[in-house]
Amino acid sequence: MADSGVEETGGSGGLALLGLVPGAPSCPHGPALLFVKTSQGKEEGRRFYACSACRDRKDCNFFQWEDEKVSETRLAAREEYNRNRQPFFTHRQNVERYKDFVLLPLSKRRFCQECQQLLLPAEWGKHSEHQFLCDISTAQLKSPSQLLYPLENKKTNAQYLFADRSCQFLLDLIIDLGFRRVLSVGTPRLHEIIQSKASQEEDFRVRSLLLDIDFRYSQFYAEDEFCHYNMFNHHFFGGEAARETCRKFLCQDNGERVIMVTDPPFGGLVEALASSFKKLMAMWKETEKEGPNNQEMPMFWIFPYFFESRILEFFPSFSMMDYQVDYDNHALYKHGKTGRRQSPVRIFTNLTPNMIVLPVEEGYRFCALCQRYVSSGNQHCEICNSCTSKDGRRWKHCVLCKKCVKPSWFHCSNCHRCALPNHSCERTNAGCFVCGRAGHKRSACPSLSRAGTACQAGKKQRQKTQKRMKVGISKRSAVKRAVFSRKKIKNKKKKT
Ligand code: SAH
Ligand code: ZN
Ligand code: ZN
Ligand code: ZN
Ligand code: ZN
Repeated sequence: MADSGVEETGGSGGLALLGLVPGAPSCPHGPALLFVKTSQGKEEGRRFYACSACRDRKDCNFFQWEDEKVSETRLAAREEYNRNRQPFFTHRQNVERYKDFVLLPLSKRRFCQECQQLLLPAEWGKHSEHQFLCDISTAQLKSPSQLLYPLENKKTNAQYLFADRSCQFLLDLIIDLGFRRVLSVGTPRLHEIIQSKASQEEDFRVRSLLLDIDFRYSQFYAEDEFCHYNMFNHHFFGGEAARETCRKFLCQDNGERVIMVTDPPFGGLVEALASSFKKLMAMWKETEKEGPNNQEMPMFWIFPYFFESRILEFFPSFSMMDYQVDYDNHALYKHGKTGRRQSPVRIFTNLTPNMIVLPVEEGYRFCALCQRYVSSGNQHCEICNSCTSKDGRRWKHCVLCKKCVKPSWFHCSNCHRCALPNHSCERTNAGCFVCGRAGHKRSACPSLSRAGTACQAGKKQRQKTQKRMKVGISKRSAVKRAVFSRKKIKNKKKKT
């Protein structure tokens, strides 16, 4: 484990995750993860523990050197601190409160927007200075993701809710594939439409269990519908009982027709996520199944396409679907008014790709050679023998690189690979980027008269990207991180 991993942490230079180790100290978010500083791929310096869930020190500043001696007093203080940081009401208390709440007449149903809490009349006084919503309807109680504000400003939660189009697509796909139970890990909106349909339509047979770190959801769901869970360290805040709820859910009916759907924060450590997901898969596998038990629990992992190689590293049986997942509260990743903006978010799955039928109305088509649905711009490359586009645009084949590359890239004879025309070459005192000779620049290269146009095209693309980046203020950090990681992954590839 120690030497694996490009980090998705971003920020301060090289940090490698060593993982969840027995006896690790705990912060309010469960067991901390062990990290080490690295330079040029080598471990360097002391190992330390840090919070698994929060990538922003402001959210949780837990830090401890691996070899640090922690006094009894400090340990006791830490335990007390962790206890105090737990939610005011327990899940059970919230369930009781909900029962009381739904008995109230509409005029007495209030939701405090500041505390993000359903209020019982006796509590109104305490919240009199707060903004609140009145007349909370049953419909509102059934769509908590609309009532609660998305925790998007926090790096910790990065709550980006599916657009209706994508959520409905996922549900239809799940139903068409014959699944009956959905383990919704960090997908509150998917959980919500399943729960709401289940309560309204008699012949709707799908059930869902939500695992999420956002405890606000415990106000709306019973203990067998929601578990307070940290997907970076596989920690059930509700202890053994909650873990058992999850296990039972997975193992019901011999574990048949279960699928896990997850949409983690994009800044998260892929390795930590993968390790938790493997534990959830193992929970499912423990069931008594007939016949050879070498199957994997079916899964949809929703994540940006540039993490493909990272995800495949941990889940070699997975493949990436071309479907572009859209979000509501995400300026970058949602349907524009004029045509669609391209979302970089995809579905990774261990189901056979040809089973995943993508909507033809949206331009997806079936490639008989690849045996999967691909986006309209994704052309089958005869040389690669595959539909090679990752971002939905038509990619072009580079004979020198022996693979397809982004349409905006050109082969750089200095770097011996394709890159954007304006990239800075790895070799210093580089010559012309087209022919490699010194004395002239790309724009004046005698060997390529169209180089000027190429340069222009690159510039336009760049401007477009910058504009798009500006729109996405709300997810700026996540995007930065994603871009950052992509660079890293590229760098890694380059070295190998
Ligand atoms: N698109 C999904 C929401 C994805 S946003 C939907 O519409 O249903 C990421 C989700 O992961 C949020 O619900 C957030 O609360 C949850 N999350 C963030 N960090 C987490 C963690 N450490 N453990 C579990 N869930 C987490
Ligand atoms: Zn309040
Ligand atoms: Zn090709
Ligand atoms: Zn090339
Ligand atoms: Zn170059």
